[in-house]
Order: sequence, then structure tokens, then C-alpha cells
Amino acid sequence: MRPQPYTPEDFPKNPLMFYYEVTRACDLVCKHCRASAQEDPAPDEMSTETALALIEDVARFPRKPTICFTGGDPLKRADLFEIIRRATDLGIGSALTPSATPLATFEAFKKAKEAGVSAIGLSIDGPNAEVHDAFRGFDGSFAKAMEMLRYARDLELPVQVNTSITRRNAHLVDEIAEVLADQGIMMWSVFFLVPVGRGVEEIRITPAEYRQVFARLYERSQTMPYSVRTTEAPHYRRYVLEQGGNPTAAPKNRPSFPNSAFAAAMKTERPGGSAGGHGRAPLGVTDGRGIMFVGHNGEIYPAGFLPVLCGKFPTDSVVDVYQNSPVFKALQNPDNYKGICGKCEYRHICGGSRSRAYALTGDYLAAEPDCDFEK
Ligand code: SF4
Repeated sequence: MRPQPYTPEDFPKNPLMFYYEVTRACDLVCKHCRASAQEDPAPDEMSTETALALIEDVARFPRKPTICFTGGDPLKRADLFEIIRRATDLGIGSALTPSATPLATFEAFKKAKEAGVSAIGLSIDGPNAEVHDAFRGFDGSFAKAMEMLRYARDLELPVQVNTSITRRNAHLVDEIAEVLADQGIMMWSVFFLVPVGRGVEEIRITPAEYRQVFARLYERSQTMPYSVRTTEAPHYRRYVLEQGGNPTAAPKNRPSFPNSAFAAAMKTERPGGSAGGHGRAPLGVTDGRGIMFVGHNGEIYPAGFLPVLCGKFPTDSVVDVYQNSPVFKALQNPDNYKGICGKCEYRHICGGSRSRAYALTGDYLAAEPDCDFEK
């Protein structure tokens, strides 16, 4: 049976995307890491039994979200495929975001697919090894990412490439877009820095530079064989609409992956903003509003970049927290947003990055600090 499309009526009841940070362990030391990853698992990482119980709790949502298994490096968990398999058995679609380390083998990708993963997310932050490896802190990281792209293609696993935009690479958007053109990817997700973890303030771009990047992304989205979306920059939706574009219009020549985890989300909207998809009006999925995050130790947050603790699994059910936590409830209604976002006619389809508002002001309902559309 095809899943029902996600609609605005789902916001108070079900997340669209459920991010589970299965571990903080990772062998890379990336400059902007949200998790401030460490080499070994944290002592309070959830056991296999508790992780499986979490998946069963997620299955209790009236409409099951897609789970993104993230980290750290999810491949650092020996029981990862068992956890994925439990999600699959419960009818939950999933995606996996492995780090570019020797653990990311063809065999690991094959096992992930066999366990039920229907899409892979991987990071490419520059058009070449020089830029990307400097960003990631490891020589050979770009080559490994390219190898991972090949594994995914060989296994017919759809790929979302994630790129973090900072002062170091904002001028390279076109070059990165070109490199991705031949990789058979499904989606390019461009993440705009939220200064938490190792994401440091001094490499954050200005609101004017956002507009320049938006312009490059929009132009590229017209011709590239993959969809383009933004993460933590929902005002890209406004930019696209103001150019006369449709933030959910599909690229003409994008490969079709109808059963992938990302495609499920794309049939309604891409969290964080989009320019691709199936032509529906954007919904305004954002932190705590269609998105939920559970950390390696069961701590529950509205998003991975919004460290406002709302509960802890297994003491708290994720269903109960999503539906009843005052933080989630406040985030789910854009009429609660303050400053320019509260007055903006685009607040229900944009609303600004709640994570960046919190990181820079301490108030998750404050105006998006990096939007100057209303000025
Ligand atoms: S003012 Fe806020 S809601 Fe309006 S476009 Fe900017 S970020 Fe979005």
C-alpha cells in the first residue's frame, strides 16, 4: 500500500523525518560536526535492546516517519543492521548517512540495502580533494566519498549528497554542482551552517551571501539531473517563489527512485526547503515541525541542530514528546515565531531556521538571524 502524502494536518501528530543518531563514534574529525564526534562510543550510548525499543516506539506514530540513521558514523555500531532490519519489519522506511572511512565498504552498503535501507546520504563539501579534504580534516576523504558514490550506483541505492556551505566554499557552488552532475545522484542537499558543535561562527556566511548562493542553486536546479534542496535555510523556498519558480517542481531529467526513503519525503516536500519534487506547494517542514531527532543516549530534540532537551527515551515516548511537548507544540505553529519571521507572509512555508535562531539568540522562536528578505 502506498503511504499517504504528508499534509499540514500531520504536523501536530507525526514527524515526516525522524533522525536517530545511533552513535557519536566516528573516525573523522570534521570542522563543522554537529555531534562533535569522538573516536569511541559514548558510555551512555543506548544498548541494542533500547535502540530496538526506540524503533518500536517510532512505529506507534499514526503515520510512520522515515528514519534517517545518522551519527557520528552509524557504521561504528556493530548492531546497526539489526536496528535497520527492525525498522523495515515494522514498515518504516529508512536512509543511512555513513562517514567516508574504511568502514564504508561495498559489503556494508550491500548489507544496509538488504536490511531495508532505501537511500544513502553522504557528504561532499568541495569540488575536489583539496577543498573537501581540508574541510573534513582527512586526506583521501574526497576519494573515499567518490568510491561510496560508486558503491551506491552499483547497488542502485539512491543518494543524497550533503554539502555544508561556509565561507570556505560558498564561492564554489557551481563547481560542486558540476562535479555532482555525472554521479547519478537523486538529490543535492545544501546545508547552511548552524554554529553548534564544531560549526564555528567565523566561517558563517552573511545574509547577502545567502542570496548569492540561493541564486546559484536556483539556476543550477533548472538544469541539473538531480533535485536541489536546502537544509537550515528554508528562506530558499521564498527565493524560488519570488523568482516565479515552484519550490517543489521536478527537474526534467532527474533519475527516478520511487521507492527510496528520500523520495518518500520528496513526494510532499524536502525538509529545510526545496526546488524539485512533484509540484506540490511547499509545506514548511522545519525543526520540530515535521522533524524530530533522538541522540545516541535517547535524548529527544526538535532537530539535530536545536539542542533544547524535550525528553529522554525510554523514560519518555517519542510519540508523546512529539505530540505534547510544549517546545514541539510552540515550534509547530509559525504564528508563534517572533520578529520578522512572525510578521512574514512566508512564515508557514518558511519560518526561518529555528536552530540558527536558537544558536545565535537563545530563543528558538526568534527571527531567523540570516534572512534579510524583510529588511
Ligand atoms: S523573514 Fe523569516 S519567514 Fe520570512 S522569509 Fe525570512 S526567514 Fe522566512
